[in-house]
Amino acid sequence: MNNQSEVRVRMAPSPTGFFHVGSARTALFNWLFAKHHKGKFILRVEDTDVERSSEEMIDVVLQGMEWLGMDRYEGPYFQSKRIDLYKEYIKKLLETGKAYYCYCDPQTLDKERKAAYARKEDWKYNRRCLSLSDADKEKKDQSNIPKAVRFLVPEQRVTYKDIVYGEISRDSKDIEDFIIQRANGMPTYNLACVVDDHDMGISHVIRGADHITNTPKQILLYEACDFAIPEFAHLPLILGPDKSKLSKRHGAVSLDEYKEKGFLSDAMVNYLALLSWSPGDDNEDFMDRKKPENLGTVDMVRLAKEFTLERVNKANAIFDVTKLEWMNQQYIHQLNHDKFQELLKPFIIKHGLMTEEILIRDHQRYVEICNLMQPRLKTLDGINNQGRYFFKDDFDYDQTALQKFTNRETLTIMKTFLPVIQDINPFEVVNIEITLLSFGKDHGLKVKQWIHPLRVFTTGTKAGPPLFDTLKLIGKQKCINRIEKMLKQKQES
Ligand code: GLU
Repeated sequence: MNNQSEVRVRMAPSPTGFFHVGSARTALFNWLFAKHHKGKFILRVEDTDVERSSEEMIDVVLQGMEWLGMDRYEGPYFQSKRIDLYKEYIKKLLETGKAYYCYCDPQTLDKERKAAYARKEDWKYNRRCLSLSDADKEKKDQSNIPKAVRFLVPEQRVTYKDIVYGEISRDSKDIEDFIIQRANGMPTYNLACVVDDHDMGISHVIRGADHITNTPKQILLYEACDFAIPEFAHLPLILGPDKSKLSKRHGAVSLDEYKEKGFLSDAMVNYLALLSWSPGDDNEDFMDRKKPENLGTVDMVRLAKEFTLERVNKANAIFDVTKLEWMNQQYIHQLNHDKFQELLKPFIIKHGLMTEEILIRDHQRYVEICNLMQPRLKTLDGINNQGRYFFKDDFDYDQTALQKFTNRETLTIMKTFLPVIQDINPFEVVNIEITLLSFGKDHGLKVKQWIHPLRVFTTGTKAGPPLFDTLKLIGKQKCINRIEKMLKQKQES
């Protein structure tokens, strides 16, 4: 095993056009591990497999890393720019007889494989090209038959100690002579990954457990190239609530979608850190509470200090959106008010709740709405559902609440409240409160007889921020219009 002292880890995304939350977790664990050991975190883009890997696809990853606060790394390095290096090693493997050319037609092999599987038999490439004579090869070359390069898998047991899963052992009999260079001349993932991990001095390979099957192949390549073997730590898979691998079927899987839904990057980091990892004391709250102005942000320093691979649990993690929402709410709630107001603005604009000009003009009103909603939002985007009534008349009514509070009695009560509301001047919280409470009392009404219908008529919901503050921010005329509209509708029906 590698005995270098500096910790060097890497995150090696294949640019797929989106940044999966599972990849974000892998990046985070690598980053925390590097930070814990004062080592280096390297970003390497594995783009040899992609037909056309656009800049945009790579930007998605870079922006995702930046959003999560993992902005310091070495690289990015692009495998597509390092092809010559991989070819050098492929050449050496060919020269030393550790690899050989294969002229077999991939489609024919595929058919053979499928037929064997249909017969419930195993299938492995039968090395037919290994025994080709020089003359045969020359003939094929002259006919321009495309040729790939296969690694000649030596017969041995491959055993390594995974930091998370413990000892993993595999007989190389089960591994076919895998391709290390495709017929189009491009090196394959396993070869490029090993060359890079060696060349970049990677001390620990920390990646998803879906790569466990690649590791024995890679160890054989390390040995064939005479490279020191790094440590391996495979991270358990992330599953959906139905315990199948997290995929689009389960809802949002890309980091961007969570950002767009108004999850805070700090809550996201805290949540991702706990997917198959837990600190020694099981305290899952990593909010930075060192100074009041830090509230609502994640304490990356403490996370990195406490993060060890030994505490990564073998069990697969379930991606629980309800827990993530709960955590996000804690972070939103604690956030510095000015910061919250800034972060919420794009969502206000996106949903057409206020324009940029109105945000400036009605700044005080915006601040007051923010103060009411900040403790109640699970996501920033939730402002549109939970607080649309502050801004727009086209909010949804909770139909069950509406039914409950539009009976003859409540309609009569609301009718009597109309002129009272009309007469509140100025329409300020204390005035509203005193006037409505004393009116209700003078008319022998219990508070609950009028307060619930009043909320439902004016906001469409039966729960929300303190009602008198809410009414003030909706504005007198709007409150009256909404009550009148409801009375008219219900009396007509
Ligand atoms: N490019 C691989 C992936 O995106 C990463 C492989 C590795 O970390 O070795 O899954």
